[in-house]
Amino acid sequence: MNFFKEKCPHCKEILQLKNNPDSKSIIIKECPAGHYQKEFHPALETYIESHKVS
Ligand SMILES: [Zn+2]
Repeated sequence: MNFFKEKCPHCKEILQLKNNPDSKSIIIKECPAGHYQKEFHPALETYIESHKVS
């Protein structure tokens, strides 16, 4: 799985990197239409997914 080619499960747009100055250790990518967000925590090697539409 390639995190940097992830797509929104709702509209299939490629997720865009979100500027996140408060947490430099966390990478956030989100759908350009705001459907979906994915956080990557490198220290934990863990993803957290957030669906903003049902
Ligand atoms: Zn979307």
